[in-house]
Amino acid sequence: MSTISPEQLNSIREQFPALHQEVNCKPLIYLDNGATTQKPKAVINALSRYYEHDNSNVHRGAHTLSDRATEHFENARKTVQRFLNAAKAEEIVWTRGTTEAINLVAATWGRSNIKAGDRILVSGMEHHSNIVPWQMLCEQSGAELLPIPVLENGELDMAAFKSLLTPAVKLVSVVHVSNALGTINPVADIIALAHANGSKVLIDGAQAVAHWDIDVQALDADFYAFSGHKLFGPTGIGVLYGKEALLNAMPPYQGGGEMIEHVSFSKTTYNVLPYKFEAGTPNIAGAIGMAAAIDYLNTLDRKALAAHEDALLARANELAAEMGGIRIIGNAAHKASVFSFILEGAHPADVGTLLDQQGIAVRTGHHCAMPVMEQFKVPGTVRASFTFYNTLEEVDALFKGLEKAKLFLL
Ligand code: PLP
Repeated sequence: MSTISPEQLNSIREQFPALHQEVNCKPLIYLDNGATTQKPKAVINALSRYYEHDNSNVHRGAHTLSDRATEHFENARKTVQRFLNAAKAEEIVWTRGTTEAINLVAATWGRSNIKAGDRILVSGMEHHSNIVPWQMLCEQSGAELLPIPVLENGELDMAAFKSLLTPAVKLVSVVHVSNALGTINPVADIIALAHANGSKVLIDGAQAVAHWDIDVQALDADFYAFSGHKLFGPTGIGVLYGKEALLNAMPPYQGGGEMIEHVSFSKTTYNVLPYKFEAGTPNIAGAIGMAAAIDYLNTLDRKALAAHEDALLARANELAAEMGGIRIIGNAAHKASVFSFILEGAHPADVGTLLDQQGIAVRTGHHCAMPVMEQFKVPGTVRASFTFYNTLEEVDALFKGLEKAKLFLL
């Protein structure tokens, strides 16, 4: 598999201004991409261009700026449609992020389809945002939420999944890539099995979209959710993809402007897709910024970038084995570039602080995935999440940093 040359990597890094700074008098090494990614100039420029030239409200203006803002906003939706290979732009609903996308499905599809006695399956490695909305729905409806067990190596227990798939299961909602373990779940198989059982499937793609292009039609996902800020785009914008027939049958989410066709005190009727789910003034700049991020990614060879990320993870595994005293949490055969670990004998928070003093940004804690932390009997981990702009030298620096941290802590 071809990867990228040092020259290509340098020119990619040039596009990300935030990478070129010192933190605690050391060059920044940003390894917290699972939490949020840095933004390329293309995104930053798209945001300023929008605010400098086109800023206006969308859809209802009778003037040129509003027309321009509407055109850019709707073109951004089409960019996302192509990015996901969705059949129609109407299937792309703007949300604030993955969390809101999942809450939207729980509140609308969930409330009209889930009743007492039904079951919802999630995996044991979910982010809280793919657990709590379903718990809230189950509390209201009397349905039951069950976790699909996770094996010791961090893979989903597919045999257990198959045995959990009973006619009572109306929905399976699983993460594509685990933010806590890096596991890449076999979502195509999960979807096929769930559909054979008559269950609908939501995929939490928050951590997947930064690594590869997604094809929702090939996957046959019913719903697919992700956030712009983990895809090199702005915060406060995300996407819910849903199959048109499902979205059409769902009641609206929030009420307000934009989502209506006609309002009167006797009867209000709702707008067509996707506006039915987009009450209020949307995050126009955010949508335009997200599209700029996708356009930027489309200029790169994403397969080569993924191979580079694999090389970064492989180097981390190799150095961890050399160093010793490192317990890697999550050893799935198919893993994204997430290196989640415990430095034996040290608290993850202390390790994080000592790395920060050396300019190295990692995340520590439970990563909003408390159940999986509990399973691995750890309070949290140190997580270095690599992306394509990271270098092998940065991985080396992480381990030099860990050696120093060890001197203080052990
Ligand atoms: N799902 C996963 C797997 C995540 O990693 C995250 C964020 O870390 C989320 C959902 C929530 O994303 P957001 O906070 O952007 O809504």
